[in-house]
Amino acid sequence: MRLKHLFMMLVAIIATTSCIDNMHPKENKKKAEEVTETATDFKFWTWMTADASRTDESYTTEFKKYSDNGIDAVLINTNADADLLGRLTPLAVNEGLEVHAWMFTMNRPGDSIAMQHPEWYVVNRNGESSFETRPYVDYYQFLCPTRKESREHVLGLIDKMSKVEGVTSFHLDYIRFPDVFLPIGLLPKYDLVQDEELAEYDFCYCDACIAKFEEEHHKNPLESHNTAIDMEWKQFRLNQIKAVVDDAYKIVHENGKLLTGAVFPYPEMADHMVRQRWDKWNIDVVLPMIYNNFYNEEIDWIGFATRQGVKDLEGSDTELHTGIYVPEMSPEQLKEAINQAKDNGAKGAAFFDGNALTDEQLAVIKSFKSE
Ligand SMILES: [Zn+2]
Repeated sequence: MRLKHLFMMLVAIIATTSCIDNMHPKENKKKAEEVTETATDFKFWTWMTADASRTDESYTTEFKKYSDNGIDAVLINTNADADLLGRLTPLAVNEGLEVHAWMFTMNRPGDSIAMQHPEWYVVNRNGESSFETRPYVDYYQFLCPTRKESREHVLGLIDKMSKVEGVTSFHLDYIRFPDVFLPIGLLPKYDLVQDEELAEYDFCYCDACIAKFEEEHHKNPLESHNTAIDMEWKQFRLNQIKAVVDDAYKIVHENGKLLTGAVFPYPEMADHMVRQRWDKWNIDVVLPMIYNNFYNEEIDWIGFATRQGVKDLEGSDTELHTGIYVPEMSPEQLKEAINQAKDNGAKGAAFFDGNALTDEQLAVIKSFKSE
């Protein structure tokens, strides 16, 4: 934890000194104070997916629209394309935006290297691999966090993407197992009832996981009469994801960057639904996707889930910024959602996604910056 402090201080010092380098010495002190003050403001982010065929001009227009409306940071998904991220980063930075390298981490749909290794994929309790039997949707192709080769592949991608010049963080997404339980609001869409942990959505029973678990606990989960109440088996899987995150943290910090991640609404919910216990991770910023409509919840639930996560992170150095799903929100609801996040201890809010933000919603975001 001390190292983390040191790193954050260094980042702050570098940011401050690089700003004051070209200034008159007398102005240095004043400017440094202003920089520190700005850094503590409530921060706005947006997720966005890049398309290599678009022109630089069209991206500059998009980035300018965000920065003109109070957005501070963009999380850009380039599908692990470092060249594309390298092309877009200076355009965004020129418009005053921070850039975060957003990447699907354990879920790697269409990953051409991974696809050559069917054994790298997670296996469910029925023995089916997500290489060919994909849970829920065709793009669910999760890699095993335990197997040496698959985790090294993922960490290699993280290293590559976090080396891109000018990015502030590497942003983990799908850093988890497939959903054991889908969000309740999505169940009707899949015509599903999930009253218990169903074998076809319960992963990872691959050879590498079973062997490592047997070595540690001297039992085989496949022989358990009820895997849902085998706490060592659940903890093992939480730990395997944490181990990938903690290794990612070391890698991105060695590359001089921060680690951020999109996670489930609050730690115990994330644990229950997708085997993700993010309050125990080494990570600089978490952006829980507190998408109330996915869970048939109202706007005030955004406040509840934010507060829960903030409390669970007490004593750690991890910041929480609330993720908000904007497509089904009126401008008034968006304002209320941001206030719920702000009043309950979040340091910022991230919007999913940039494309969906309407002019009216952008005006709401902007109004927070002129308060
Ligand atoms: Zn496995």
